[in-house]
Amino acid sequence: MAQSRLTADDYAKLTVAKFYDQLQTGKTGLTSTQADQRLQQVGPNTIQQTQSRSQLKAFLKNFTSLMALLLWVSGLIAMFTGMLELGIAIWAVNLINGCFSFWQEHAAQKATDSLKAMLPTYTQVLRDGQTQQINATELVPGDVFLIQAGNSISADARIIQATSLQVDESALTGESLAVDKRAAYEKGEGRFAERNLVYAGTIAVSGTATAVAVQTGMQTEFGQIAALTQHQKTTASPLTAELNRLTRQISLIAILIGLIFFIAAIFFVHYPVAKSFIFALGMIVAFIPEGLLPTVTLSLAQGVTRMSKRHALVKELSSVETLGETTVICSDKTGTLTQNQMTINHVWLPQQIYHVSGEGYVNNGKITANDQAVALKYSPDLALLLRVAALDNDTEIKPAKSSTTKPKILGTPTEAAHLILAEKSGLDLAQLRQAYPRAQELPFDSDRKRMTTIHTQPDGSQVIYVKGALDGILTLCTSILVNGQVRSITPDDVHDIDQANQHYAAQGLRSMAIAYRNFDGQANLPTDPADCTIANTEQHLTFVGLTVMADPPRPEIYAAVEKCHRAKIRIIMVTGDSPLTAKSVATKIGITSDQARVITGDELSAMSDIDLQKAVQGEVIFARVAPEQKYRIVQANQHNGEIVASTGDGVNDAPALKQADIGIAMGVTGTDVAKDAADMILTDDNFASIVAAIEEGRTVYSNLQKFLLYILNSNVPEAIPSVLFLFSRGLIPLPLTVMQILTVDLGTDMLPALGLGAEASEPGVMDQPPRARNAHLLNKSIIWKAFGWYGLIASVVSTFAYFFVNWTNGWPQVALASHGNTYVLATTMTLAAIVFCQIAAAINCRTKFNSVFSVGLFSNHRIWWGIIFEVALLAALMYLPVLQGLFNTTAIAGRDWAFLLCLPIPLVLIEEGRKAVVRQRHR
Ligand code: ADP
Ligand code: MG
Repeated sequence: MAQSRLTADDYAKLTVAKFYDQLQTGKTGLTSTQADQRLQQVGPNTIQQTQSRSQLKAFLKNFTSLMALLLWVSGLIAMFTGMLELGIAIWAVNLINGCFSFWQEHAAQKATDSLKAMLPTYTQVLRDGQTQQINATELVPGDVFLIQAGNSISADARIIQATSLQVDESALTGESLAVDKRAAYEKGEGRFAERNLVYAGTIAVSGTATAVAVQTGMQTEFGQIAALTQHQKTTASPLTAELNRLTRQISLIAILIGLIFFIAAIFFVHYPVAKSFIFALGMIVAFIPEGLLPTVTLSLAQGVTRMSKRHALVKELSSVETLGETTVICSDKTGTLTQNQMTINHVWLPQQIYHVSGEGYVNNGKITANDQAVALKYSPDLALLLRVAALDNDTEIKPAKSSTTKPKILGTPTEAAHLILAEKSGLDLAQLRQAYPRAQELPFDSDRKRMTTIHTQPDGSQVIYVKGALDGILTLCTSILVNGQVRSITPDDVHDIDQANQHYAAQGLRSMAIAYRNFDGQANLPTDPADCTIANTEQHLTFVGLTVMADPPRPEIYAAVEKCHRAKIRIIMVTGDSPLTAKSVATKIGITSDQARVITGDELSAMSDIDLQKAVQGEVIFARVAPEQKYRIVQANQHNGEIVASTGDGVNDAPALKQADIGIAMGVTGTDVAKDAADMILTDDNFASIVAAIEEGRTVYSNLQKFLLYILNSNVPEAIPSVLFLFSRGLIPLPLTVMQILTVDLGTDMLPALGLGAEASEPGVMDQPPRARNAHLLNKSIIWKAFGWYGLIASVVSTFAYFFVNWTNGWPQVALASHGNTYVLATTMTLAAIVFCQIAAAINCRTKFNSVFSVGLFSNHRIWWGIIFEVALLAALMYLPVLQGLFNTTAIAGRDWAFLLCLPIPLVLIEEGRKAVVRQRHR
């Protein structure tokens, strides 16, 4: 391939033949071998991120936090005042802690980054003369690819053919108005103005086109810009903001307490200044909730990973938190609540009804007339209907490669069902397409809910085929085809059609109308199909019949809906389908009772905002709505104070997805536009996955509270020794040294705390109403539990251990030891008692109401690894001579170990008793 140094404009100007030449490609695209070679040469079509500088910054950040700075300074002071070893130890602890925080952030980043790989963008390319779906990363220059409304464009490309293509180039130009693109060259003003070029990173909002890739990957305009401005914008989530505030407040209080202790130590106990400072530092470090933010980030990221396993990909960590608050879900019907496995099982024609057997997208059934008198071959009406079904259709079914795989649909299930219908009747699609070539199309859109194609018939005349929503099409019909005769449509005909439709809709079936029109010259219908528009073409139609489709609810929907009801989350169905079908499905799967109010799109347009806000408070279903109207429904709910999750898949769903607190796009059937606008993407398009994500969201929040409870409670036993020391005016020598406080706070507590962040959903999280938006992470109940219950118990136990050691060594006959073996042993035991109380706390914090034994004592491995680490660290401090000196620790006797190892048992049992009482009271 000629390594071209042509500018975009050069490419745009070349004649098509020269252009193909330049890229060594052609109308039918590349061969697979060529494409592979080029991929080797130019590399994958991806935008690379360079992050090295920000990495270093992120690393250093962990050593410049308020607490880190405090520790640096304190270490320095210790070194210069003759406590060299202490100084080094403080610095070492600080260093280890910073690295640990960095690791946590890094792990969180990795978890979120890996999500991107789980959501590939696909492109339809022509290779070996065939349409194929490939991962957009495999696109190479010279590839001929197709663009459809809703696609994001994966390469800089020149358009060869386009039908009313409009592209949103705001990602490049900042201009939000979509621009028209066409095949003919036209230089426009400024950059990116060539009419026949499209650019990577932009989005097709309407129309279709065929284009040839010119540049891929970092060579694209988007890649060039991205290379210049490598920054990711991150918005602080409310939770991070709250945590920052919390950390700052607690830190201030801690410093204040430290100051008081500092002054008191100097004037009250007559401690030297440097020693007083180090002493006060212990208090400050004990209270500053260090490690809070990285742990929170990591557990959010772990939540994200767990969600992805349940088919929900979240783009930003903050969504995890919003998910937990969700109060209303506005959900599509087709494909989200139902399987989107359309099977046409009836064909209704005036005075003829056919039954269609067989399931799915394989030609395994046949059409039989209900009425024996009507034989298939004698029904030209049916033949026409089948032709419209097959030809007014943009979908392709690729047969299954083997008996174990499913046929692949390039297009929509609704259209696939129509193709299968035609095949079941014995039509040869390829032959049909050749006999009736398509001259023009007026593509489907969710607003008018129909599509039209114009075909040249074998006799050379042309014909218009229309299929779509019945209500819209019926008003456009002026005549009807009955038993081979076209006549004017009468009110009786309309009544019959309505009756049939209602009959099917009441069973949850959806019907679609089929109509046609000859080139009759009426109402200024142009003679050239190229001049046909929606306005002049879709009228004076002749009604042919209905295709009736079944789309069964997804089997897991019933349980998911039930879960939402228990969790006090309301579901509002918003569908483009007919009111009757919508209601029948909603009632069947338990979303609403049959008393629910059904509001149609037309009624919605006529409604005031205030009426709408009132309406959405009750049981309500929206049917025949256009995607744009979803926006209002979301807004009305938000106005009522609801936290709204809303689903969407189409181009026009984007505003609603952006407006919703959680915009949810369909990963399988969704357009790139919808995925782009959404906060969360469902890889299986399944409503049940939304509910799973909400459950995970709630779990993450409750885990954070468990984690907070755990790290806060140890502050009390860490502080009490210093308080005893002060209030006894030094008579009680410090039972816990500063280094020992640091050990607990920055050492032994770390891993079990992390384990709590990864706790699985506690039974019952979905049996409670959503938490209020203004609820605080750190609430009164947690503070009370941390300080007045867990913390108190640990303080009593550790203080007991301290005095017990002294008692066995002669106290109160001899004074409490302030140095020597007894003192070291006493502080060691105080430390060990705190650590073992924390082991009990880690187990106790795992559940809020439930018994730990009911969720499985050993079900969270991380907790147990954390505990093992904790004990190992403690043992190292006791038995490694280097550490003994630094941490004022010593080896303990077997009897002491026995006491410690038994200690958590009563502590867990006492807490189990309390939880049992709470559970009893709740009942
Ligand atoms: P939902 O909101 O349930 O997902 P859709 O937006 O997919 O429904 O479809 C709305 C209506 O548009 C359908 O009830 C059907 O009548 C019509 N429709 C859907 N797909 C097509 C199509 N490919 N061609 C013509 N009409 C269609
Ligand atoms: Mg839809």
